[in-house]
Amino acid sequence: MNVVSQRVNAPIVIAIDGTSASGKSTNAKMVAKALGYVYVDTGAMYRTLAWYCLKNKVDVNDEKAVTALCRKWKTALECKDNQVHLLVDGVYPAREIRSAEVSAATSHIAAVPKVREWMKKKQRECIQFGNLVMEGRDIGTNVFPETDYKFYLDACISERSKRREAEGVQENLAARDQRDSQRAAAPLMVALGARVINNSGMTADETSKIIIEDIRKRLAEAETIRQNGDNR
Ligand code: C5P
Repeated sequence: MNVVSQRVNAPIVIAIDGTSASGKSTNAKMVAKALGYVYVDTGAMYRTLAWYCLKNKVDVNDEKAVTALCRKWKTALECKDNQVHLLVDGVYPAREIRSAEVSAATSHIAAVPKVREWMKKKQRECIQFGNLVMEGRDIGTNVFPETDYKFYLDACISERSKRREAEGVQENLAARDQRDSQRAAAPLMVALGARVINNSGMTADETSKIIIEDIRKRLAEAETIRQNGDNR
């Protein structure tokens, strides 16, 4: 098998990064559904570790203690209904990880380099489930920098705050964005080659349409190139 056909047969990863409440989850789910890909919410993985720290009374600002817990927690990846979840002690704490307390704690544990190393390895393992739509903060820059399909979502802070309030969540998004953008390890930034979409004033349908059309067009182009190569 040559390098080109290996790349063609390898699972495809669509990376969707962006600021908090920029619509990553909603759009990533819509894109995954439209393409029949598996959806991976990497924020949920970081949230699960933050929740586990709080549950075990580990100070989320104590880098050594957080690293030690991350080394020994018992986890597994599960793919159900085309969504990947990180289980801890056999459970996915879906509701618990969405509390305001966990949201605030998460960007602290996410700044720990050993945690990011652990998460990157787990997130890359998700490829075992097939083609992926993976959303987060560093997917295009750090987790799957080799993918050709990178998107970066953003919206103005007032609109993002309104979206969170509509979900019944009150939190300081600007402070979280600042921590995510200023950390030394894999900070939030636009990946090289990413298509930036500012979706202020746009619906999720409009945003996801742009992403889906872009991917379909490029997949069709890649298929044409592959077929032309096969016919030579
Ligand atoms: O996307 P979500 O808001 O659930 O992410 C929660 C937090 O997890 C982010 O604010 C960030 O600190 C961290 N995170 C990260 N890298 C990712 C995904 C999430 O640092 N790939």
